[in-house]
Amino acid sequence: MHHKVIIEPFKIKTVEPIYMTTEKERTEFLQKAHYNPFLLHSDQVLIDLLTDSGTSAMSSRQWSAMMSGDESYAGAKSWLKFEKVVKDLTGYPHILPTHQGRAAERILYGYLGGKGKVFLSNTHFDTTRANIEFSGATAIDCPIEEAHHPSMDYPFKGNLDVVKLEALIKQHGSKNVSAVILTVTNNSGGGQPVSMENTKAISKVCKKYGVLFIIDACRVAENAYFIRHREKEYENRTYREIAQEMFALADGCVMSAKKDGLVNIGGFLALRDNEISDACTNMLIITEGFTTYGGLAGRDMEAIAVGLEEVFEEDYLKYRIRSTQYLGEKISQMGIPIMLPVGGHAVYVDSKALYPHIPVEQYPGQALVCELYLKGGIRCVEIGSVMFGKYDDKGKLIPALMELVRLAIPRRVYTQSHVDYVVEVFQEIIDTKKSVRGLRITHEPKFLRHFTAHFERLG
Ligand SMILES: *Cc1c(COP(=O)(O)O)cnc(C)c1O
Repeated sequence: MHHKVIIEPFKIKTVEPIYMTTEKERTEFLQKAHYNPFLLHSDQVLIDLLTDSGTSAMSSRQWSAMMSGDESYAGAKSWLKFEKVVKDLTGYPHILPTHQGRAAERILYGYLGGKGKVFLSNTHFDTTRANIEFSGATAIDCPIEEAHHPSMDYPFKGNLDVVKLEALIKQHGSKNVSAVILTVTNNSGGGQPVSMENTKAISKVCKKYGVLFIIDACRVAENAYFIRHREKEYENRTYREIAQEMFALADGCVMSAKKDGLVNIGGFLALRDNEISDACTNMLIITEGFTTYGGLAGRDMEAIAVGLEEVFEEDYLKYRIRSTQYLGEKISQMGIPIMLPVGGHAVYVDSKALYPHIPVEQYPGQALVCELYLKGGIRCVEIGSVMFGKYDDKGKLIPALMELVRLAIPRRVYTQSHVDYVVEVFQEIIDTKKSVRGLRITHEPKFLRHFTAHFERLG
């Protein structure tokens, strides 16, 4: 008997209270936070969909593993356990533990980068791009054309354009291309998956030109789910085998364990090449820590070792992807314009289509972010002109390509009734959309302004 309802494949052992608030209280909180939810206190938030990074709930197995963390400086048992799990999964011989993903990026891309060097990717995640540009190198995105159309349904919208890739390698000269970075799933591109067929084609081009091929594996398990269900020849493979095959096609990976590692902090760098690994190990020791702990406590390595196994469990991944799709399907059916198809870790709302009466200079995405908080205590983030907008010489806004709002789903944290609540709040968003007004920025820092900018509501 097949049941329609997919239940959370876990029971809850520890609970954390959600502080209930009224719309009147939230109006005051948001005003004090200058209409920027990054400046809210977490106990002022009912459902926190700001990010899926480091916000996972750990399992009882992970918590008990943490108690057996070995905190020895060198050769800790916890390190050996962590190293074995990562080696078995990736197949790479050199494993470098780091405190989170960007530390692995800084070490690898700092070594490979520098002035005149180029990195190519389906889409560089913001910390990836920042580390590459900080080294003096250039980061070029080459996603497939389909990725630019929010409402176009396509099974592997995270793919990299292989024709463009080869042209770019020829244009810059293979010696100047430091690496091709394949981000799975493509976070900045809407959490969209990358196919194995695409990965194979990229691998072939990289081999042909002798270019290093790195996987940004933050969400490699979620990506494996999509491959199995959308690429016919993988329908009978396990999720773990699919991830292993993907790693086998590349020369190394960086991973933030704060995503598919199912932990609150941690990451690693894994490499095939001895020479690159030696150079990176020097940098690891100087900036993170000794080779057998890097930036991590023994207990963190224990939790990651267990998390990297749990994340490939059938029931877990089915629940994970289905719960994200459930939210996307429900609000889409109700008429909320979203990015299609729904990706693995988040639902992206097209705020420009929802609020056509708000010009981009008045930040329709930020307006929706504020409405979701006021109406329902839901916290999420604008991914549009607040985050990526720039100014021209005359101080006029050069808007981002899209005005999206991201609802990221923390792993194993919220139940279906929480999601149903979010859906209900979206009905209110539809009912009141005509009366919503935009915002004006009253204070902004030079870099990464979305984190700390202040806004004012327009009347
Ligand atoms: C989160 C993330 C990173 C950076 O990892 P941190 O642990 O936040 O430093 C890199 N790449 C992608 C695709 C990510 O999602």
